[in-house]
Amino acid sequence: MNWKEIFYMFKRITLIALFWIAFSQTIIAQDSLIFMIRIDDILCRNETILPRSIQPFESACNSRGAKVTWGVIPHRLIETANDDGALVQELLQTVEKGNEVAFHGYNHICIFCGSSHEFYCPTNQRHLTYAQQDSLIKNGIQVFQDKLGFVPGLFIPPGHAVDTTTYRVLIDNQFNRISMATPYNEFVIDNLFNLGMQSEYTWAMTSSNYSGQIAAALANIRSFGKTNGFYCVLAHDYFIRQGYENGIVIRWFGELIDSLKISYGDRIRFMTVTEAICHYTGRPAGIDKPFVVTANDFILRQNYPNPFNTSTTITYSLQKDANICLEIFDQNGRMVAELINQRQSAGSYSIRWNAERFSSGIYFYRLRTNNLVSVKKCLLVK
Ligand SMILES: [Zn+2]
Ligand SMILES: [Zn+2]
Repeated sequence: MNWKEIFYMFKRITLIALFWIAFSQTIIAQDSLIFMIRIDDILCRNETILPRSIQPFESACNSRGAKVTWGVIPHRLIETANDDGALVQELLQTVEKGNEVAFHGYNHICIFCGSSHEFYCPTNQRHLTYAQQDSLIKNGIQVFQDKLGFVPGLFIPPGHAVDTTTYRVLIDNQFNRISMATPYNEFVIDNLFNLGMQSEYTWAMTSSNYSGQIAAALANIRSFGKTNGFYCVLAHDYFIRQGYENGIVIRWFGELIDSLKISYGDRIRFMTVTEAICHYTGRPAGIDKPFVVTANDFILRQNYPNPFNTSTTITYSLQKDANICLEIFDQNGRMVAELINQRQSAGSYSIRWNAERFSSGIYFYRLRTNNLVSVKKCLLVK
């Protein structure tokens, strides 16, 4: 073998090796999948069908390594059917287990047509104004703040209807993530990143369409996943929908996840929608991060008297020692007084706010630790 033959042989081997590496990496890239499960409309409308717990579905997913993003309508948290606080507890726990709570509108009712969407009415092709949308969003923020102690930074448009005004309102209220009906993973405006859902298979699930829907889902996940690398399955409030109580949807999801694990092996990664967005944008999640709650770590109570004239008492309790900051804000969000800023040990506290030098109006008092925030409203009347 002369040097020329050796050179050509070496070149051929190098080319084959390079080709093989490129080819195998393409296969791996196409074959891996980020898989998400999004459940919209928790406890939507029908509050009478039991059981209404999110936990059977949650554990069917979590025990297989999958995660759930719950699209929570904040209004559900203040409805009388949920006065027992069970849903609040389950939502706080689900976050601790690695699942996600997302913001799904305020009360899900369109002021123009009365059907289940907000912000933009496709029936009447009308937009709610900036002010109307902003006030719905702010109502929702307040409910999440009061009930869960944190505000989700991921927004799911109610009824899947949204417009450019909604984008602006979301940006102005510090949301930076949205999950729409469109599947794309991209910034829809400024800082607002959309990672949409692909398909729903269990809306009207029966034993006769069960297998067909599994096959359809697997085929769609395969083909969409090959091109896009991710897939988000949508389902609705399975735990209260008529005919769902037999657990058919829970079984279906379990079987789907098991099949995906067999077919993808360790090339499947289960994420919440926010985790997937962080993966694509390469940056940490936004506003809900500082508010991650350890349930019952602290409680901020309503001041008394309220409304009040010149002075009122604010009480709160801490389960653990913490650096505490208690501040008063006016209606424009300006901090007007700092009542406490120090380390405190576990226990109950009350502090008097003397508002003699302040004018009549609505004020907010905010209790903050390193990672928890709670805000309440009070009214000064002189
Ligand atoms: Zn409408
Ligand atoms: Zn919905």
